[in-house]
Amino acid sequence: MDYQKILEEISLEIKPLFGLGKVANYIPLLSKVNPNKFAMAITLLDGTQYKIGDSNEVFSIQSISKVFAFTLALESYGIKLYDRVGVEPSGDPFNSLIQLEYEKGIPRNPFINAGAIVITDTLLKSFKDDKTTLNKLLEFIRDISDNKNINYDSDIADSEMSFGYKNMALANLMKSFDNLYNEPIDVLKIYFKQCAISMNVKDLSRAMLYLVHNGSDPVTKKEFTSLRRIKRINSLMLTCGHYDASGEFAFHVGLPGKSGVGGGIVAVVPNILGISVYSPELNSHGNSLIGTKALELFTTKTGLSIF
Ligand code: GLU
Repeated sequence: MDYQKILEEISLEIKPLFGLGKVANYIPLLSKVNPNKFAMAITLLDGTQYKIGDSNEVFSIQSISKVFAFTLALESYGIKLYDRVGVEPSGDPFNSLIQLEYEKGIPRNPFINAGAIVITDTLLKSFKDDKTTLNKLLEFIRDISDNKNINYDSDIADSEMSFGYKNMALANLMKSFDNLYNEPIDVLKIYFKQCAISMNVKDLSRAMLYLVHNGSDPVTKKEFTSLRRIKRINSLMLTCGHYDASGEFAFHVGLPGKSGVGGGIVAVVPNILGISVYSPELNSHGNSLIGTKALELFTTKTGLSIF
């Protein structure tokens, strides 16, 4: 397959879509990113990469971090996690409070904000203090992406911290239902830093390889999780990775994927490749508008959806 040619075709075909979406503005610093950026990268099982556009541009991975935190929490805390967070799509926006109240503080899944906050709380319980927790997560992400330089952007974390009222409400509501071990503010301080981790599309497509390849890295041979857990994580990415547009993403793209409001999306073609796309203008569901289209074009042109 001529992946480079396919990426080139996609980067031309998405051009008319610039200007149709909106850059996230509820995190003040994110509103300052250049809306015209576009990048896409693929990593094959042997580590070969293909890329197009601004592939060295690092951006805020935001909710893509939820996949990594969930993997680490499964490893450190085990399946008791499912007592505290469900595995059903929510059908609601990423930061909705409504369902959480009538479902008594148990979030629908680990990829909506409430679920991810529970996951971060679990990591904090497992690793005891905030520094160790964040370091464990960063170490894991550096390992899976094979890039020791990955870090978080403290300005973006602070920017979200000062306006994160919805997330504070979610955390407080869950605490009131006894579904957080730690104080909401202590969990959120880590959660905002985790969302503010900066990566480029090359790092992100590389970071997908453990999900492509049964839980271990096919290049470094490091084991990250089990085959059984890979089935769970990929299924949840397929059914819940794009909030209330998860059905639409599955319908158009047909791959397990996860988006972030920074404009990044990652996706997995099992046993073949990891892929990532970046374009900061979002659709009304908070997912990259051009990124979603680019992935749809990719699976249409290559026939590489899981269906
Ligand atoms: N940090 C963002 C929030 O919690 C992440 C949302 C997203 O990327 O979808 O609101």
